[in-house]
Amino acid sequence: MRFVDEFRNEADVQALAQAIGGVVTRPWTLMEICGGQTHTLIKYGLDRLFPEQVTLVHGPGCPVCVTPLELIDRAIAIARRSEVIFTSFGDMLRVPGSSTDLLSVKAQGADVRMLYSPLDALKLARANPDRPVVFFAVGFETTAPANAMAVWQAEKEGLENFSILCSHVLVPPAMEAVLGSPHNRVQGFLAAGHVCAVMGYHEYLPIAEKYRVPVVVTGFEPVDLMQGAHMLLQALEEGRHGVENQYARVVSREGNVPAQRLLREVFEPCDRPWRGIGVIPQSGYALRPKYARFDAGKRFDVDGITATEPAECIAGQILQGLKKPHECTAFGGRCTPEHPLGAPMVSSEGACAAYYHYARVR
Ligand code: SF4
Repeated sequence: MRFVDEFRNEADVQALAQAIGGVVTRPWTLMEICGGQTHTLIKYGLDRLFPEQVTLVHGPGCPVCVTPLELIDRAIAIARRSEVIFTSFGDMLRVPGSSTDLLSVKAQGADVRMLYSPLDALKLARANPDRPVVFFAVGFETTAPANAMAVWQAEKEGLENFSILCSHVLVPPAMEAVLGSPHNRVQGFLAAGHVCAVMGYHEYLPIAEKYRVPVVVTGFEPVDLMQGAHMLLQALEEGRHGVENQYARVVSREGNVPAQRLLREVFEPCDRPWRGIGVIPQSGYALRPKYARFDAGKRFDVDGITATEPAECIAGQILQGLKKPHECTAFGGRCTPEHPLGAPMVSSEGACAAYYHYARVR
């Protein structure tokens, strides 16, 4: 398959592993931001191909993992209302809230439906004018444009029974939170190619300059990641910082300008809590006042619901690259995909799930 098979070529991966081995002279710690990239690294055993001096840590780029506990509780409170059709991406259904999850609420009779797009939620709203339809709008800059489009379309059509529970998060403030932490050990980033396909990579230039780190925009296949890591390690060894683009077949400096325009039309930046991490200033999207009537949190009066995270789950430390999944005492014992204590064990992009499924402890 063009643009897939060639990026899974084993000989190319091995050649890049050799090239990396030839570059590295000192210990380095790299972070891949996106949970999808974490899964590729662990699933294909790429992490085993790096020299001992290179430590790979996993970043905060799993949207399900960083959705705050209180947002899950708010979603559950809305979904329990008999008049509501509550819709969500599948991963969110099994993420534990304070006392239950959306799938269990569905089993108890709530009308919770799994969708692949917020535009499908709009169709549901059109087909059920007498019932409120709510879409759980989570994710990074990758999923935000489709949610912005759904809200913009609902406004245009005058749809009264559609709203979103908004929990969008943004990558650049999260990178700054990692780099600005006194415990930070990340020296270079592999940035998420799909986020940059929307936003471009110009947003990372000031971060690379301020913290004097190299950032390489990287794709998701094994060759992409090995090539991105090679570029990153070369920059580190040569003492360079700045932004380089391994994923040029998809990503440009400016990104998808019409999508960015739509995002600015519907959303404005806001302070946002991240599960396990806490509030990161200006790290999320909220609906602009013009679109406030599509805010499910306000419409169903659940914004006051708060929650305390369980102390046992160290997801926040894993998402900041401070610990690895197998360092959690609950990993594989009290916490498994069947009985998860935290979101990273449930999500298809979660680091704990990657380590669990591919039986890795390094
Ligand atoms: S193994 Fe489970 S409890 Fe531990 S950090 Fe991962 S999700 Fe949380």
